[in-house]
Amino acid sequence: MNCELCPRKCGVDRDREVGFCGVSNTVKLARAALHEWEEPIISGTKGSGTIFFSGCNLKCVFCQNYDVSRGFGKEVTTDRLIDIMKELEDKGAHNINLVTPTHYVNQIMMALDKYKPSIPIVYNSSGYESVTTIEKLNGYIDIYIPDLKYSNDELAKKYSKAPNYFESATAAITAMRKQVKDVIKDDLMKSGLIVRHLILPNALDNTLGVLDWVTKNLDKSTYVSLMGQFTPYGEAQKYKELTRKIKPLEYKIAINKLLENEFYNSFIQDLDSASGAYIPPFNLEGV
Ligand code: SF4
Repeated sequence: MNCELCPRKCGVDRDREVGFCGVSNTVKLARAALHEWEEPIISGTKGSGTIFFSGCNLKCVFCQNYDVSRGFGKEVTTDRLIDIMKELEDKGAHNINLVTPTHYVNQIMMALDKYKPSIPIVYNSSGYESVTTIEKLNGYIDIYIPDLKYSNDELAKKYSKAPNYFESATAAITAMRKQVKDVIKDDLMKSGLIVRHLILPNALDNTLGVLDWVTKNLDKSTYVSLMGQFTPYGEAQKYKELTRKIKPLEYKIAINKLLENEFYNSFIQDLDSASGAYIPPFNLEGV
């Protein structure tokens, strides 16, 4: 079957060749472990059961998980994917957190058809999604955590080769919003939507454009996570404007915009998190 799972619409048969995401139809994973550094309603006290999928359909030049997005990982069967979910449940995970899952949606649905964990399923993605794929996931996913990375098409083209990112991601987030209602119990999200945005250096207009869309299109009770952790990784060094962390003033302006728009369920990261210490080691743990 020719792959049109995401807005790239490569049209390749992934049993024979690879498209932009760089991976075949066989699931490849880089890590599966409890993770403490998601938003508090996702990580809770015991951790989120994160499964990091290899490959990526966006491949930002500044990717904070660069090697994984470029394909580092180990191939596993659908049955092994199911066992990994069970192992994370046994370790006490609050949820099964599928990180960068877009290009494996069919395999994930096959696994969830065979085994449905007793904890929420989180779809944690770059936001570069097609509405058709999100609609297929209806009933499989409890919590969506999409990024909304760019409002600026030029930046989306320059850093991710995706000039249609904003149009695609906002349509996908609108579809996600229709599917899931926000439910929090005992300080943990059971279902819902969290929109994330990573502030880029020298790109405040991009951030303000993202927050403007959120304000005009989502209810003020929406969970919005503003991230200040940008660290120059991957190919960032090739872009002069990406060679530094964000400045406190850039962060302050973005936070003020969010607060001024009364998004009372916002998550705001400490700027101290702009270090590699919060990026887990990708060493095939749990795979
Ligand atoms: S999932 Fe991969 S192969 Fe399929 S359309 Fe997207 S980038 Fe192309």
